[in-house]
Amino acid sequence: MTCKADFIMQQYSILQQLPKAKLGYLPTPVIKLENLTRILGGPEILMKRDDLTGLALGGNKTRKLEYILGDAVAKGGDCVVTAGAQQSNHCRQTAGAAAKLGLHCHLVLGGDRPSEARGNLLLDSLFGAHIHFTKENRKGEDIPNVVEGLKLAGHTPYVIPYGGSNELGACGFVEAGLELSDQIDMENLSQMFFASSSGGTHAGLMIAKSILNHKYTLTGIQIDKAELAGKTFKQEVLELANATASFLNLDFVYTQEEVALDSHYLGAGYGVLSEKEREVIQLLATTEGILLDPVYTGRAFAAMVDQIKSGNLPQDKQVLFWHTGGVPSLFAYSGMLV
Ligand SMILES: *Cc1c(COP(=O)(O)O)cnc(C)c1O
Repeated sequence: MTCKADFIMQQYSILQQLPKAKLGYLPTPVIKLENLTRILGGPEILMKRDDLTGLALGGNKTRKLEYILGDAVAKGGDCVVTAGAQQSNHCRQTAGAAAKLGLHCHLVLGGDRPSEARGNLLLDSLFGAHIHFTKENRKGEDIPNVVEGLKLAGHTPYVIPYGGSNELGACGFVEAGLELSDQIDMENLSQMFFASSSGGTHAGLMIAKSILNHKYTLTGIQIDKAELAGKTFKQEVLELANATASFLNLDFVYTQEEVALDSHYLGAGYGVLSEKEREVIQLLATTEGILLDPVYTGRAFAAMVDQIKSGNLPQDKQVLFWHTGGVPSLFAYSGMLV
């Protein structure tokens, strides 16, 4: 990281003082999608390649895990416990990170053990994770049982929240936003698009944008329509952004109106592939040789392409898609993609 971000990092030294596990190969590259830009005939399209963070086939959770697992190690944890769907990218990256740091990893996954492990689930096993299949309990309801069992066996478990989205996880994306500002001219950007689902990416990028006082529109594309504990997802992002700002001793206080969340692309719900995702995965693969995933980036990229095609984005400024990873789950959707 070069001097501008270094300077800002010093100003916000709490971020620097947090214990951190080195997991990613950072900074990730920013590339121009030249062929696709030409085909769509709109503004120049950039892509931040967080699918290339390097750990365990990459993805946005690597950045969150640097801070979360830094904390786990500092607190003397010897095993981590987290939950997700069977094709959770968060769980796969947690399993890879735990392997690297010499921690045991327990994954609490909904549903039954499938006859054949594919995609992320296959990789979880290769990284040596212990997998607990919890049937209809799909949101980590069984974590307390697993934690109790580990304590009785003499372990010191550390629980990681769903999607790694707490203040520490969001710090990974405050840092990511600062990283990007050293790679491109942010003044040239009209809008940034990314998939938003447990809120840590969104909250972190909002704070980085405020620190740097940038003016582009930061648009999260909502992926999952399920609501937790009677809260809208927008409310969750808002609360996490405010909690993270206060954790970093920053005096930003956001309002609902400042959380830009587009919920027009939910389709039939989380993980249900539609023609929109299928088309855009094929479009990017055939024009740029870059893969999107069926659950998150396929949906969010389709939203950006829609916006470009609608002609609403200024032609003289760039747009950026933040690729958050997820590509291994393509291999669990093999029969549905082509
Ligand atoms: C987890 C994930 C997201 C969503 O990020 P959040 O910080 O949880 O909102 C987006 N894309 C991929 C590929 C993911 O795995």
